[in-house]
Amino acid sequence: PADRSTAGRYRTQHEQGRFGQPGIQKVGVLGGGQLGKMLALDAARMGVNLSVLDPAQPACPAAVAAPQVVGSFQDPAAIRRFAAGLDILTVEIEHIDAEALEEVASHLTVEPEPATLRIIQDKLKQKEHFTAHDIAVAPFVGIASEADAQAAAARFGYPFMLKACRMAYDGRGNAAVNRPEDLSEAVTSLGGYGAGLYAEQWVPFDKELAVMVVRSRSGRVRAFPVVQTLHRDSILWVTEAPANVPPTQLAQAEDLAARTVSCLQGAGVFGVEMFALPDKGLMVNEVAPRPHNSGHYTIEACASSQFEQHLRAVLDWPLASTDLVVGASIMLNILGSGEGEEGLAAAHDLISRAYQTPGASVHWAPEAAAAGIARAEQGGAAPLSSPAAAGFSRSGAQPQVGIIM
Ligand code: ADP
Ligand code: MG
Repeated sequence: PADRSTAGRYRTQHEQGRFGQPGIQKVGVLGGGQLGKMLALDAARMGVNLSVLDPAQPACPAAVAAPQVVGSFQDPAAIRRFAAGLDILTVEIEHIDAEALEEVASHLTVEPEPATLRIIQDKLKQKEHFTAHDIAVAPFVGIASEADAQAAAARFGYPFMLKACRMAYDGRGNAAVNRPEDLSEAVTSLGGYGAGLYAEQWVPFDKELAVMVVRSRSGRVRAFPVVQTLHRDSILWVTEAPANVPPTQLAQAEDLAARTVSCLQGAGVFGVEMFALPDKGLMVNEVAPRPHNSGHYTIEACASSQFEQHLRAVLDWPLASTDLVVGASIMLNILGSGEGEEGLAAAHDLISRAYQTPGASVHWAPEAAAAGIARAEQGGAAPLSSPAAAGFSRSGAQPQVGIIM
């Protein structure tokens, strides 16, 4: 007779694969930076067998909680070798070799779909994709020459935003063009006309909002609360949860996030960044096909973190509640050098002061290995097998302290 006890039902469902197979399915992550580390910490807690592919030496940030395979997520051979021992492959960064992912997707599960990463890793393609799916974005146009840039300036007026199509994140890859005289410097700062640029109309937004949406492999969808983000120099500074906007706008933001994610294939967390306009309309700015720094507050403030949900989604485990479990939460992203004795002492002083606020949590995110390589590059020393040598560098990345309260 069937064992009808809770444990018995669990065993049966487990044997049928309904709950996945903790510890058996091997999950690999392309990238082991700050987001990879937070995924790895949750994976360790959840009994998920996780490893990361990252070029940073001596160790990437995620290596504190998961085995690191040293190699570049932009190197097809390294991706193939890494994938060979895995059941599921996912990402903490979209700037990976999409072709290699398409190839390995024929013999293991890749989430989200490589096609999604291919669209998102090119911001111009991303904007075209959303436009084709009736998702509102700021007017934009591809730029390949000075004449194109002049035409964009005439069309959009000043200021307008010039953006690099590829390898852009954390504000790197954006240049505001405030006056005609700024154009050539902006173009140069983004690698020149040949680098792949596009221009975007300046959005005089009232607020920036973000919604983290999670979708499992079997298509279940949940959204975390709508949050407000504040940026300084295009870099995330503060996340306020929940966003202080009227209920109708909250509902519109949830709806827009759901529609945006539904035109992208694959499982996992998606971070949808949007602009709330003075007329209360909304526009999508961009989407991250992975956990997102505006979702860090979920670690303490929600019933489940975005990292736990990402793992549940790619393993096709049941999704958890995304409810806020505190009245409200504020995340403050502090960038600092944190280097050397003095930098570390200053950081520790800041951290101890943060803990004076009841309920505050600190997340220390040093990128020491990458920062070391950036220094080596500047100093002309030859970095061996570094992210830069492999074509990608988090150079300039600074240790970050995230304070969530
Ligand atoms: P990243 O990939 O670095 O996050 P984004 O394109 O999201 O780059 O831009 C970063 C920030 O720059 C945005 O969150 C917003 O504050 C500002 N920004 C981007 N595009 C525009 C725009 N068209 N008009 C006004 N501000 C913009
Ligand atoms: Mg952004």
